[in-house]
Amino acid sequence: MTTPEVEMTRELRNLPSVESVLSTSPIRTLAREYRRDWVADLVRDQIDAARGAVRNGSPAPTAEEMAQTVAEHIDDLGRVGPRPVINATGVLIHTNLGRTPLSMEAMEAMIQAAEGYTNLELDLYDGKRGSRQAHIQALLRQLTGAEAALAVGNNASAVLLGLSALAGGREVIVSRGEEVEIGGGFRIPDVLRQSGASLVEVGTTNRTYASDYEAAITENTAALLKVHSSNFRIDGFTHAASEEELVAIGDRHGIPVLHDVGSGCLVNTQDFGLAPEPRPQDSVAAGVGVTFFSGDKLLGGPQSGMAVGKKDLIRALERHPLARAVRIDKVSLAALAATLLHYVKGEAETKIPLWRMIGTSSPELENRSYHWQTALGEGVLVLRGRSTIGGGSLPGETLETWLLALECEAVPGGPNEVLRRLRESSTPVIARIEDGRVVIDPRSVFLEEEDALLRAIREALEPGG
Ligand SMILES: *Cc1c(COP(=O)(O)O)cnc(C)c1O
Repeated sequence: MTTPEVEMTRELRNLPSVESVLSTSPIRTLAREYRRDWVADLVRDQIDAARGAVRNGSPAPTAEEMAQTVAEHIDDLGRVGPRPVINATGVLIHTNLGRTPLSMEAMEAMIQAAEGYTNLELDLYDGKRGSRQAHIQALLRQLTGAEAALAVGNNASAVLLGLSALAGGREVIVSRGEEVEIGGGFRIPDVLRQSGASLVEVGTTNRTYASDYEAAITENTAALLKVHSSNFRIDGFTHAASEEELVAIGDRHGIPVLHDVGSGCLVNTQDFGLAPEPRPQDSVAAGVGVTFFSGDKLLGGPQSGMAVGKKDLIRALERHPLARAVRIDKVSLAALAATLLHYVKGEAETKIPLWRMIGTSSPELENRSYHWQTALGEGVLVLRGRSTIGGGSLPGETLETWLLALECEAVPGGPNEVLRRLRESSTPVIARIEDGRVVIDPRSVFLEEEDALLRAIREALEPGG
């Protein structure tokens, strides 16, 4: 007769030894690729974990089973990420999927900057130390009309640097309607506090007038700050002071106006049938002191943040100690320069993937979806739908598209299971559910991804899985 106690003791004795797991063939293979002592540590950890499970009543794994667990663990660690995924959501600036893909020229510039030495901070003319900003300054000046420009790691750090350098220890006047949270915890009031500036709120959530700002000015006011509500829209009884009005007030009192426009949209969104989006060049033209914007939203470039504006103000940003802490790296800088060059050449709509996707016509998308339907056969429909810009840009703005809709009744677990299977295919596919069907938006899928997409869909729709 065996009691549970006796059985557990026997199972504990049955646990494989470290040496026996290390001598299995999968682990011997892995120990050639990875450090042996490190693999041995992992094996030991897994055996400890198994010992705990046995004490709770589980049977002891064999050396081969143990080896399998360790191998899966090492496979996960050894897989270089982030991995490519297919964005079938139709959300074009997708923060969780790395915002937007870069142009071919931007990628080539990144490889060039990464693979060898570069003149990052060397003036080739006189052989002296140069500024990394020299590679993008002329382009940004040309595109925005600003006297001076500075690129840093992202727009959040550009705003933080700007407020620290220009308003630290003093007051900044902001409209109550513009104390926004951008997402990921980036809240304008928090950034203001972090910069050492104090916040002076004026107006109401829905209506703030130029006179509200002027009434709040004291001898301690460092700046008037305007923030674009990138990711939401208030309709109805609203009013905000224009940049021109704020600049007029600022000029009267000798106070600069700072404008966080969020998305660095350099083109006219109305040409694409979208709502107007504040453009950096318009703020500069209105006389704003420093305009801040992101490099990887509607600009379609790498993660980066820009501050453009008056020479003396940008100089103060460059000289602030935080500038070093938030400086842009050489690889992003190269991609940014290549992306900005597309705008200077007037080829942004054809070269930058984001603008190519936005510009894809509805009939073109309809064709692609019907083509996919033909390739897949049963169980898929083509439906009208909407793509979204996303990334906290152009809230509520959508573009007409044609969705491939997958009927999921045959799959136990339904649409959620199909979504999960798509995510777990060898090239993960990220899709969404609409009206009980999984839908695939061709607008954000690249032509070269089609084969992998169709393969993943076929596998995901198999009744057995
Ligand atoms: C997105 C956004 C930011 C943050 O920009 P990142 O480049 O993501 O750091 C700041 N302000 C506004 C208004 C934004 O829309």
